[in-house]
Amino acid sequence: MEKKLLLGAEAVAQGAIDAGISGVYAYPGTPSTEITEYIQRATEGNQASVHSRWATNEKTAFEAALGVSYSGRRSLVCMKHVGLNVAADAFMNAAITGVLGGLVLVVADDPSMHSSQNEQDSRYYGRFAMIPILEPSNQQEAYEMVSYGFEFSEILRLPVMLRITTRLSHSRAVVTPAEPRAQNKLNPERDRNKWILLPANARKNYHLLLTKQDALRQISEQSPYNRMISGSGERAVIAFGIAVNYAMEVITSHNLEIPLLRISQYPLPEKMVKQFTAQYSEILIAEEGYPLQEELLRGFSGDNRFRGRLDGTLPRTGELSPALLEKALLEFMGCANDTRHDTKQPAVIYQPVTYPLVVPRPPMLCKGCSHRDLFEAINRVMNDYPEKHVFGDIGCYTLGALPPYSTISSCVDMGASITMAKGAADAGLRPALCVIGDSTFTHSGITGLLDAVNDRSPLTVIISDNGTTAMTGGQDSAGTGRFFDICKGVGVDEAHIRSIVPLRKNMEENITIIREELEYEGVSVIIAQRECIHIRKTKNR
Ligand code: SF4
Repeated sequence: MEKKLLLGAEAVAQGAIDAGISGVYAYPGTPSTEITEYIQRATEGNQASVHSRWATNEKTAFEAALGVSYSGRRSLVCMKHVGLNVAADAFMNAAITGVLGGLVLVVADDPSMHSSQNEQDSRYYGRFAMIPILEPSNQQEAYEMVSYGFEFSEILRLPVMLRITTRLSHSRAVVTPAEPRAQNKLNPERDRNKWILLPANARKNYHLLLTKQDALRQISEQSPYNRMISGSGERAVIAFGIAVNYAMEVITSHNLEIPLLRISQYPLPEKMVKQFTAQYSEILIAEEGYPLQEELLRGFSGDNRFRGRLDGTLPRTGELSPALLEKALLEFMGCANDTRHDTKQPAVIYQPVTYPLVVPRPPMLCKGCSHRDLFEAINRVMNDYPEKHVFGDIGCYTLGALPPYSTISSCVDMGASITMAKGAADAGLRPALCVIGDSTFTHSGITGLLDAVNDRSPLTVIISDNGTTAMTGGQDSAGTGRFFDICKGVGVDEAHIRSIVPLRKNMEENITIIREELEYEGVSVIIAQRECIHIRKTKNR
């Protein structure tokens, strides 16, 4: 097969297409967005039978993928780490129902929070749900592991998690694809009881999940992705996922003889780990994310042979890098100043200059962005109130927290603007105002609005409708053109669903409308509608 130069995210996507998926479901979120975009580009061209459309949120995406699996076909579901919090309910229960057609969940974690509100480690979720986890160390493995994951998923009848991180997702390497495989035939689940999680069935299924754990560990012991690389001395390294790549780079660059155990499949192969660790007096644990495996290996009694993020040998937070591992490993081996090893030679494999992690974007709204005129109008109204609280949400408009506007006072998670404003209104805050994007509103803002309507909480919601999911690159937005009807359907009085066009020429009229609705002692919605300038440019091309 012809070699391809692919981002890690694209390698996952190509792997899924070649593994015969029938559907991909996702909500856009950096660093996972490119997986679905790649499949969409491919399906538009030559894989038209792969269903692909952006979902309203990660939970609905996961549930749709589960539906494809129920029909006997293979499905891929993609999200960023915080998206798994949203999908957690469906995700945890899918481990109990099991699957029929292979289901691979790709979660892209973002250590160092390049474009996220936290740096949680999704391997905890995989462990929590007791499902297999695969963690590729490079783009070729990312490609291959997708197919391996689907096979594994169908044999074990469990969802499989593929965990990648920003660095792998957004860096390119040459990938050699395999022969593509045809899609599964439609063959819906016959054993319906399995999928009806009434307590009697759920207990049986949970027991079945527990009985599969030994098999999962056995498979990990034999996995081609878990193996020892020999060396000599009293000290050793255990590296996980992409940290394998970093460790190999440091070992090769400095001609180190240190033994390495590489792990890319979980649950941990216990025998292999015990056999390896018994031989050494000290072991450096290199893993991307939280010190999950280090903590497990140290145990409650504190086996101090294990070094890593917990004892400060590696930094506790942020992204791991070859340079960080190089420093830690050379110090750990006591040869930081040893001239036998070429310690001056940096072992850097990912050059930020060559492979920028994200397209550098100044932390400000684009010139001509509709949010600018909206924030100016809000500021002019809110200046009349002694304290200016505007609850914000996740999207480009979060940048309204920064000067020159400094409009937004909070941003916690998707959809939290409405529910936080509701809580503050219930507590007596006046006016209670929030700003939410169109896509975020459909993601998880609607339910908060329904709460406010049910409680008659006095608040004003501004839906900034720019017709797209702008922050992640312009994916479809689920409610475009229908926000009036949606809000009316949720129960907002139609006299208090107002529309404005945030343009400089409309400034005085917009200020009047915002002021009127802030004074209303009930739920009001203002739909501020103006397209993101980039979407408009694309349409006009
Ligand atoms: S991408 Fe669009 S919505 Fe986001 S700041 Fe730029 S113009 Fe505004």
